[in-house]
Amino acid sequence: MTVKKDAVVEMHYTLKNDAGDIIDSSQGKEPMPFIQGHGNIIPGLESALEGMKVGESCDVSVNPEEGYGVHHPEAIQEIPMEALQGIDNLEIGMQLQSQDEQGNPFAVHVKEINEKTVTIDANHPLAGETLHFNVSIENVREATKDELDHGHVHSGSCSH
Ligand code: ZN
Repeated sequence: MTVKKDAVVEMHYTLKNDAGDIIDSSQGKEPMPFIQGHGNIIPGLESALEGMKVGESCDVSVNPEEGYGVHHPEAIQEIPMEALQGIDNLEIGMQLQSQDEQGNPFAVHVKEINEKTVTIDANHPLAGETLHFNVSIENVREATKDELDHGHVHSGSCSH
C-alpha cells in the first residue's frame, strides 16, 4: 500500500538546513513512525509523502510556512534573571514553560544568558528555516482503530 490518510508510516529521514548542516536524523535509530493525515508531522512533509511506496526515497524542501512557521521577532523577550530563579543549570537551548496573561502555558527556549537578564524565544527553534529532508519509506500499514482514535502510533506493548 502507499502512503495515504490513516496509514501508519515508518520512515528514515535526514534533515538539513539551508547551509547543508544536518539538524536531525533517524540514521542509526528505529525509523520514525507516524499516522499520515493527522498532523503528526509538519504539513509540507505530509503532502510530499502522499502516494509514496515502501522502498522509495525522495528529497523534499519545505518552506517555513509549511514547516515550523515563520520567525516572529516579537516572540523574543529579555527577562530579568530573578524571574528564573529556582531553575538549576540554566543553559542556552534549554526548553522552559512560560505562561501568557491568561495563564495558558507555552514553550520557550533560552536564547542568550546575560549578566542580569535572560533572553527567551517563543519561536520554534526551526522557525523561519527552510527544511531539506531526505526521506525513505520503510513500512506502510493500516492504522488500528485505537491508533486512529488516539491520533498516534502504538508500537510494541505500548497501549496508552
Ligand atoms: Zn494511544
